Amino acid sequence: MLKKIFKTNNNIKGLQIKPSLNAASLDIEKIDFIEKLVYPLEDSKFNYYTPTVKTGDRVKKGQVIAVAENAHGLKILASAEGTIKGVETVKAPLPQKLADALVIEPINKTYTFEDAIFNNDVVLSDFPKELIFQSIVQANIQGLGGGLFLAAKKLLSSDKIDHIVLNAVECEPVLNCDEALLTHYLAECLAGGLFLQKAANAKTITIVLKENKIDLINYLKHFIKNNEQFNNIAVATVPDLYPAGAEKEILKHVFNKPLKAKDISTNHGYLMNNIMTAVSIFRAVAIQAPQLERVFSVFGKNIKNSKNILAPIGTTAEDLLRFAKIDESKIDSIRVGGLMMGEDITTETNIKTTALLKSSNGVILNTKEDKKTVECINCGECSKVCPVNLVPNKMFKAGQADDFTNRFFKNLDECMFCNLCNYVCPSYIDLVGMFKYSRQQIQLIEQEKQRADYINKLTAKKRDREEAEKLEKERIKLERKLAREKRLAEKAQKEAVENAES
Ligand code: SF4
Ligand code: SF4
Repeated sequence: MLKKIFKTNNNIKGLQIKPSLNAASLDIEKIDFIEKLVYPLEDSKFNYYTPTVKTGDRVKKGQVIAVAENAHGLKILASAEGTIKGVETVKAPLPQKLADALVIEPINKTYTFEDAIFNNDVVLSDFPKELIFQSIVQANIQGLGGGLFLAAKKLLSSDKIDHIVLNAVECEPVLNCDEALLTHYLAECLAGGLFLQKAANAKTITIVLKENKIDLINYLKHFIKNNEQFNNIAVATVPDLYPAGAEKEILKHVFNKPLKAKDISTNHGYLMNNIMTAVSIFRAVAIQAPQLERVFSVFGKNIKNSKNILAPIGTTAEDLLRFAKIDESKIDSIRVGGLMMGEDITTETNIKTTALLKSSNGVILNTKEDKKTVECINCGECSKVCPVNLVPNKMFKAGQADDFTNRFFKNLDECMFCNLCNYVCPSYIDLVGMFKYSRQQIQLIEQEKQRADYINKLTAKKRDREEAEKLEKERIKLERKLAREKRLAEKAQKEAVENAES
């Protein structure tokens, strides 16, 4: 059972969640064997990719194998040298969805990592801004905190970024891949942050953690104090509440900068990146390494071998479980992503082909709990916990009735899909599933309305043009008629004068 404690702290509204799951060891183990790599041609942000390779092609490590159709600059890179085996249908990184995926069979199934270790003799400030930016572009660096934004695009999105924020909050309960990363790659993470600061010309840089990570905070402060190159990095904390690590929550509570749902943080001078992204930036600048790997937390109920595993992007859940020596027959399902925002994968086929991607920070192994959905009892728990003060039960009812213009949907844009309302609901109602569906429907209605407005505008323009053409024709006709009448009158007058003279 999960223990729930509702509390507010420094005006942060959220839940302190104490699941009965053991966190993974803070050691980072490197996966050593990859059977295949799988790359869905859709991502969790509704971007669609077109392959740039075909079945049978031999691809190099780091080669572009697909490019996004609807988001300029996004691409998928091969994490290992291998052969394109074809396109398979796999679990998409979106709820209840399948997607086509490129499958690579590595030439060498033993995976090798290239380490980039920070060396204090290297003066970080000597690296030119242009070199840092170009390295970030070349390395195809996307935000590993879940946003998947291109780091280079984020840097270019505003010409006035004053503050760099390194997000190490890891607000999903039990996940600790960021903590493991800070424990083993602290200098590399901070150096990546300093490169970002230089690239953005930012005045300040702050790393934000959960306040209960006392040992890590002390280690971090000690390290910063004793390493001159990192002296300008500030350390801030947020309470151990979910979802205190969301970007807008951090800006509101640490920097006193409340932003609206549609506000973009870089437009307000703040550029936030997850610390794993910062390590990718360090590697890109230091050794020109593309972003091909990340750390995944693997843990679960009654699982002894909970681990943090460094593995290439595209590794299948099956390869990860094999490496962690977890007997698949003993688990009923896996959950990819965090306890709150992840998604359950239940079938054997899905486990074999589910790819662990840039946005998948954890793999939770669990036994299915019997959660039978019953009617809403109007207890109000969902509204009490909502960090952005929505009324989930009313929204759910409006969604059920397809009443998307309902006043309770007015602020649906504010919903972070944090899952807190689902988590506390005693009736096990999938409120968030309904909100995702409703947002899609509202977007479709909006698109339809825009299309209708566009067609109406075109029709009105055509009508105006036809009207103008008609008026112009009539004007010309009238002009000609008047000219002809004038000519005839002049002719008649001339003839009359001539007749009079003769
Ligand atoms: S998922 Fe949305 S409605 Fe539910 S608690 Fe989170 S922000 Fe509120
Ligand atoms: S928590 Fe569940 S049962 Fe309670 S009001 Fe919200 S939707 Fe209804």
